[in-house]
Amino acid sequence: MNKTQFIKTVLLRGLRKYCPRCGQGQIFRSLFKMNIACPVCKQEFSREGGAMIGGMYVSAAITQTFAILLIVSVWVFTDWSPTFSIAVCAPLAALFSFWFLPYSKAIWVSVDYLIDVFSGESTLPPYTNPEDRWNL
Ligand SMILES: [Zn+2]
Repeated sequence: MNKTQFIKTVLLRGLRKYCPRCGQGQIFRSLFKMNIACPVCKQEFSREGGAMIGGMYVSAAITQTFAILLIVSVWVFTDWSPTFSIAVCAPLAALFSFWFLPYSKAIWVSVDYLIDVFSGESTLPPYTNPEDRWNL
C-alpha cells in the first residue's frame, strides 16, 4: 500500500467510524460516547484533554459548508422570503451539525492517527503486515 492509499484507507475508516489503525474496532460504543481505545487493536482514540478540538474544527467547517449550500439552494430554487428561508435553514443546519458531530470526531481520530504515524510518534507497532504497508 502506498502513502496515498494508506491515507485514503485511514480517512475512510474514520468516516465509517471505525478504528483508523485496524479498521475493525468501532470508535463509538453508543451514538455519542467514544470508546477510550479500540476494542480490537487497543489504539487510543482520545489520549489527552483537548485532543478532540480538531474534531470541532472539522464539524464547524463541514456544517458551515452545508449551511452555505443549503442557503444558496433555497435562494436559487425557491421564492421564499428571507425570514422564512432562515426559519427553515437554521434548524436544518443545527440538526445537521448534531448528526455530523460523531463523524467529525471519528475523522479527527483518523487525522490524529495519521499525524502520529507520519511523525513517528505512534506508540503501537503497525497492525497490518509491514510488507504491505507504506514504508515509513
Ligand atoms: Zn483498532
